[in-house]
Amino acid sequence: MRKTKIICTLGPATESPEVLRALIEAGTNIFRLNMSHATHDWVRTVVKTVRTVSTELNILTGIMMDTQGPAIRTGDLDAKLDLKVGDILEFSVRGEKSEDIFSVDVNYPGLIHDISVGDTVLVDNGVIHLKVLSKADPHIRCEVLTPGTLGSRRHINLPGVKVNLPPLTKKDLADIEIGVEVGVDFVALSFCREAADIMELRRVLNASGSSARTIAKIEDQHAVSVIDKIITAADCIMIARGDLGVECPMEELPIIQRLIVKKCIRIGRPVIVATHMLESMIENPLPTRAEITDVANAVYEEADAIMLSGETTVGKYPVECVKIFDRVAQRIERSGGLGFADKAEVETLRHKTASAAIALANSLPDSRIVVFTKRGFLANYFSQLRPLKAPIFAITPSEVVARGLTLNRGTHPLVMKFEINPKHTIAAAEKLLVSRGLVKHGDPLIILTDVLAGSERFDSIQVRHVLEENGSAS
Ligand code: PEP
Repeated sequence: MRKTKIICTLGPATESPEVLRALIEAGTNIFRLNMSHATHDWVRTVVKTVRTVSTELNILTGIMMDTQGPAIRTGDLDAKLDLKVGDILEFSVRGEKSEDIFSVDVNYPGLIHDISVGDTVLVDNGVIHLKVLSKADPHIRCEVLTPGTLGSRRHINLPGVKVNLPPLTKKDLADIEIGVEVGVDFVALSFCREAADIMELRRVLNASGSSARTIAKIEDQHAVSVIDKIITAADCIMIARGDLGVECPMEELPIIQRLIVKKCIRIGRPVIVATHMLESMIENPLPTRAEITDVANAVYEEADAIMLSGETTVGKYPVECVKIFDRVAQRIERSGGLGFADKAEVETLRHKTASAAIALANSLPDSRIVVFTKRGFLANYFSQLRPLKAPIFAITPSEVVARGLTLNRGTHPLVMKFEINPKHTIAAAEKLLVSRGLVKHGDPLIILTDVLAGSERFDSIQVRHVLEENGSAS
């Protein structure tokens, strides 16, 4: 059973029921909706299709809405601008383009205040490199340092510049409203710069009655500089290497990735490694050797999830990409990980009990962990502590909690009603696991459950062996 979770971004290549079915069968755990490109009607339709196909296959999948966030973009151009080294390009913050030189609008009037002479401006994923020469409201005058062709609505990155845009734009708020309406399980905040940004997202979700898990996307130097606070405030973290690789010196990217994965495991926040993992498969049926090694590295680090973007939105081989992720992850997991969980913070008594249960599971070959979790916290503890081999079956009465656990490494959520007496709940869970073919005769089950002693309940760790195919255990 693969531990590393797979996230696919949906787009024209993958929105049909047939492809969605094939993606789930190939091992997709979570579908991502990128709101930089999605319309509300599309969101409503595609979420319904994902839910229908998942129900037909009886496989739980999560849905992540990824906000556009405070992105700065150039405006529309009648014709593309062919920029050469030494050319002057002017950004206009109020739609008053100059006639005599290359000029383009930007969608953020505050840029003129945030930016300083000498700053670097990167356009179109860092392809066009500019330096600010001067600024005089409403124009920012730049010199072109690397050549390139500038099209309409290109993304602007400002490495090291603190941008004063709000964390959630009007568009983000309207998108989140639709996300809540259709019941997405995760909401990712693009360009999260401060812990307060993710807390604001949490506040918005709470106010609309959503318990979707928040994901802070780490995409710039400022977020990296306050990473501990952001990790503490967020439910989950995404290492958004696309923008991060433009905003930070490229050679720092592997160091930042490892640092963030380590910190997330230490305090128990699921972490996603995203972007360009199988980029060449947008066009080709097989990945490069370097891509395989990049995927393997994230699995060695024991990240919770690896993510596909362009590969599955517009790529020619979306299902093959998931199959490659699955093959590489399973192979690398067999060879062991970097063991960052050895330094995990374990403070509460429940957390320590989970840790003891994992030590037991690690010492019993072929064991499986069974955990009963109402809000998902206990399952999160188990996942954080990265059991060496044993899968974690997280049994919960809540479908929302179960879908939220689709991100956690090594965790297989199952929905089941709890009985009043824990003994009966355990028996029902064993039956369910056998009927789904997840455990078999003789498998040791490490069960963390509460037991009744008079009117009191205590946590207990039990070891049982599945006795018969019908699920009775001793
Ligand atoms: C990224 O930059 O890596 C990322 C995941 O964000 P987006 O796809 O929204 O640019």
